Amino acid sequence: MTGAGPQPREILAELEGLRAGDAPTHGGRVLSYVYDSGSAELDELAASAIRLFQSVNGLDPTVFPSVARLESDLVAFGRSITHGDDEVVGTVTTGGTESCLLAVKTARDLWRRENGEHARPRLVAPTTAHAAFHKAAHYFGLELDLVPVDVATGAVRADDIIARLGPDVALVVVSAPSYPHAALDPIAEVAAAAREHGLSCHVDACIGGLALPWWPDVAPWDFRLPGVTSISADLHKYGYVPKGASLLLHRDRRRRDAQYFATTGWPGYPVVNPTMLGSRSAGVLAAAWAITRRLGDEGYAELVARTLEATRALRGAIESIDGLTILGEPVGPLFAVVTDAGRPAEERVDPHRWADVVRRHGWLLQQQPGFTQSDGTLLPRSTHVTVTPVTAGVLEPLVAALREAADEVRGLPPADAAPVLEALPAELLASLASAGSADADLDPAVLSSVLAQAGIGPDGSLPEEAAGLTALIEALPPALVEQALIGLLGSLVDPPATGAGR
Ligand SMILES: *Cc1c(COP(=O)(O)O)cnc(C)c1O
Repeated sequence: MTGAGPQPREILAELEGLRAGDAPTHGGRVLSYVYDSGSAELDELAASAIRLFQSVNGLDPTVFPSVARLESDLVAFGRSITHGDDEVVGTVTTGGTESCLLAVKTARDLWRRENGEHARPRLVAPTTAHAAFHKAAHYFGLELDLVPVDVATGAVRADDIIARLGPDVALVVVSAPSYPHAALDPIAEVAAAAREHGLSCHVDACIGGLALPWWPDVAPWDFRLPGVTSISADLHKYGYVPKGASLLLHRDRRRRDAQYFATTGWPGYPVVNPTMLGSRSAGVLAAAWAITRRLGDEGYAELVARTLEATRALRGAIESIDGLTILGEPVGPLFAVVTDAGRPAEERVDPHRWADVVRRHGWLLQQQPGFTQSDGTLLPRSTHVTVTPVTAGVLEPLVAALREAADEVRGLPPADAAPVLEALPAELLASLASAGSADADLDPAVLSSVLAQAGIGPDGSLPEEAAGLTALIEALPPALVEQALIGLLGSLVDPPATGAGR
């Protein structure tokens, strides 16, 4: 077979060229997005497994029985690390978001069996629950009822959640731990209350699921608690599997079956889909199977031990930097860095200005905007850090960069969004203040002017310093920011104009 395009080696060279512009996925320079075990052997094993299974279609395990075997083994592994009994079953999904979406869909469908096919239930969760639950509520027609957390610690009070439970609640979500601040929610109390009310309770352990089982001194968060009805745990985070794999585990088969979709109501093949997708590659499934099989309990314990050591060292180093501190009592290999508000202004370090300078030194940290909760309290802006085993090997230069960056920006005020705000028509801001993103139908000219003022180029290029952007995200009405972000991300993948078809 000969194609009309360039030779395969030239095409691969082009791909390599594109990759050169990306953030590095290995070596510990990126402290979010990527989870690097530091083992070339594991990377190689995953690549070979994907290659072996890349053409297998996970759509039908009766045609490809290997797929059923891999999935069953992974569910057994998930069950064992979350203390599930033989009733606990589940599915491998394509990622944390899909696991969360399906947990919500399952709970909604079970709730609707009792309460009517078209009723609109509530989903109760702390403010810090992952945005995937906002997406799930939006996709599946639930009312999102967010419970404010303590802004000093990022932790929610059990009583505050329990007070919101009632017969119109389809699902209560707690995190183990939360992504923004690594707060371990009061899972035992909430799960017990959910059980008393006969409600579904999902533990989102997308980020902690493959770390907490080996982390020291963690309060029970899993199927040891009888009220927990489902758990999500990402294989593609601390499981060290390439992107595209997560586990969703259910307390029992009845719940698992409510996740599935089946129909014979069309003239094609009978459809039974466990997840959102139809046809799906078995490649990453095979990689997940291979990696978990190679590492096993002991391998994960060892990687967690290395990560734990690095986390302790890094937290200690950051706590010792004047003007910065760590929010709350993080549990697991992640945490959020905030300004030490107990210091006078000239000694404070703004976490976003700091992250910008850290980035100039070659290390990527994720900026999290400040967030006003429904009760008016403000969760401070923070900088997110996820620690992986490779962090242990780069602690010295990393800590040096963190210190130097703090020295550079200490005493500088946070980035100011006021000039952009002042340039926008007041009536626009007022009309947007109460609008949801979905209702906003904004003038494209206004959107492009917001993007331009934020320092974003017409080609979607971002400014060197992100602190100004996050300040804008904090200050502008969410509906405007959401529309602007959609416009920005869309423009990144718009093909160049060709003039064809005119
Ligand atoms: C990462 C994460 C998710 C979403 O997972 P994706 O794999 O990015 O889709 C959900 N919940 C928590 C707590 C997470 O950390």
